[in-house]
Formats: sequence, structure tokens, C-alpha cells
Amino acid sequence: ARVVDAEGGEDERVVEAALRPRRLADFPGQPRVRDQLGLVLEAARRRGSPPDHVLLSGPPGLGKTTLAMIVAAELERPIRVTSGPAIQHAGDLAAVLSSLDEGEVLFLDEIHRMSRAAEEMLYLAMEDFRVDVVVGKGPGATAIPLELPPFTVVGATTRAGLLPAPLRDRFGFTGHLDFYATDDLVTILRRSAALLDVEADDPGVAEIAGRSRGTPRIANRLLRRVRDWAQVHGEGVVDRHAAREALALFDVDTAGLDRLDRAVLEALCRRFGGGPVGVSTLAVAVGEESDTVETVAEPYLVREGFMVRTPRGRAASPRAWQHLGLTPPVDAPA
Ligand code: ADP
Repeated sequence: ARVVDAEGGEDERVVEAALRPRRLADFPGQPRVRDQLGLVLEAARRRGSPPDHVLLSGPPGLGKTTLAMIVAAELERPIRVTSGPAIQHAGDLAAVLSSLDEGEVLFLDEIHRMSRAAEEMLYLAMEDFRVDVVVGKGPGATAIPLELPPFTVVGATTRAGLLPAPLRDRFGFTGHLDFYATDDLVTILRRSAALLDVEADDPGVAEIAGRSRGTPRIANRLLRRVRDWAQVHGEGVVDRHAAREALALFDVDTAGLDRLDRAVLEALCRRFGGGPVGVSTLAVAVGEESDTVETVAEPYLVREGFMVRTPRGRAASPRAWQHLGLTPPVDAPA
């Protein structure tokens, strides 16, 4: 697994849970979503009824699960956690729905990966607080309507566009999470360092924040590796020197690029003169599958302006040449 992977591993669950902010007021970054969600929750609290269903969309590692937990905490209600892939049959969902308590929050991670049948059951339940439980099979089967107490669904998805419109329309509030500014990552890292009980100075924290790809999950992971380095080779303090040494050891450069990202850029600039070159040719040059280059390296390289997609293939942008310390040929594509 890459140290800059925005997806969390199973082995990280416990430490991640310990680093989650518990209340909206302690959640740094995402000011718009935070303020909007704060309003929705406060109004619901004053009315004494559950808020609209909440959809959170955005790339992995930006705080969707954390916000779902916060919704429940702010409403002072329990939360039930499940995910689209865990609900393959409508019956699985019926079992969850029929056991919800009044006002409970149902967190559905990766909601775009639910089966069609479950999706239909969900949007009817979200609208009418009712499910039809089918009893029996074949021509003798009957649907028994079951009333549900009011509850709140918090759905999370990496792409809201993947949800069918009828389901998407059942969410009264949608919050889109974006990559974090470095300042917000600094705030998050300071808080995490305190929770992990490690001393971290400003230059050390800034060094980590700048390499974290706008993603709190990555920031927290890099912090743990720098802490390890500081404890083994240093004085136990997360400072600039520890950050630089540890991140060099884990192949994360100053822009947050790892070995694969850099290999792609090196091949693009050194072997193909900056491109454009087809992705499969580029993949062969770095000894990877096209799919890996396209899904693992490319999104961040494009987002950060190191690489552009053109109709004739991938091309290096000026930032790529600059980052590698190379001079672009005079006719290099801009
Ligand atoms: P997602 O569900 O979007 O993949 P998570 O909510 O699981 O992301 O967040 C991943 C990790 O990053 C968690 O450990 C969480 O504590 C941390 N994190 C995410 N957003 C924030 C934030 N705004 N402030 C502090 N920590 C955050």
C-alpha cells in the first residue's frame, strides 16, 4: 500500500477513529459544508424533529465518515454504520431499517454501490418512513407494509453523479467536500499530534502538510511515520529535519508525489520529450499496467497541474519540468 493512498486500510481503523473530531466546532476546514450542516442540524434540534437526509460527496480521506459521526453526536442520537457493498439484497436493508430507533442516524458509506433493489427500498423508506416486507415466494408472495420511526440517512459517495436521480433527490442536503488548504491541514496535524502525545513544531507540521495532497487521512498517516522516525533517530520531536528524513525514506517528495508519480513524470519528460504520448506507452515505460497509471498516478498529477490529458495522449506541463529540475525543449507543449 502507498503511504500517499487516500483510501484507508483496515489496519488504520483504530488509530483513525482516535483522531476523528467529535463535534462540528472541532472540525477544521470545509467552512461551507460545516456552516451549512451546522444550520441544518441546529434547526432540526430546535424543531425537535430529525433533519433532512444528508448526502456527503467527495474524494476519499476528506472527512465524510467523520462528519456522519458528528451529525449523530450533534443530534445526540445513536448511529448505525453500514455500506453499499454490505447491502446486496433488499432484505439486508429491510433488516437494518426495521431495527432503527426513532431519530437514529443511518450512515451508508459508498452508497453508490448498493444494489438496485436495495436502492429502491431505501428511497421509499427515506420518503415515507415505510418499507414493504415481502413474505413468501412466487405468486403467493405478499408485501406487508411496515411503518418505521423517523430517522436520518447520511449517505457518503465519492461521486454524487453516480447516484440515480430518484435516490439523490431524497437527500434534502448535499455537502460536497473538497481538498483541504494547507493551513487547515496544519490545524488538523497540530490537533492529531496532541492526541498522539507527540511534540511537533511549526516547521515540522508545515513540512508534512505541504506533502499531504490536501487530504487529512494522508496528513495523519505521514505524521505517524515522521513520529516514528523522530522516536527512533531523533529526539522524539516532529520537526523539519525529522519530517524531511522520514518522508524521504517513504519516497514522498515536497509536492506529495511518490515513486510511481515521479516515475511517470520522469518517463514523460526524459523519454518522450514531454509528450503527448499514449497512456499505454507511458505505462510500459514505467513497468506498470495502464490501469495503474490511469487510476493511481494520473488523477493527482492532473489535478496538481503536472500533467495534461490531450486528444493525442498525456503531456507534461511546465510544472512537471520545473519539479524535476529539467529544462523543457523549446517546442514543448505548454
Ligand atoms: P472519508 O470517509 O471521507 O474517507 P474519514 O472521515 O474516514 O474520510 O477521514 C479519514 C481520516 O482523516 C480520519 O482519521 C479523520 O480523523 C481524518 N479527518 C478527516 N477530515 C478531518 C478534519 N476535517 N479534521 C480532522 N481530521 C480529519
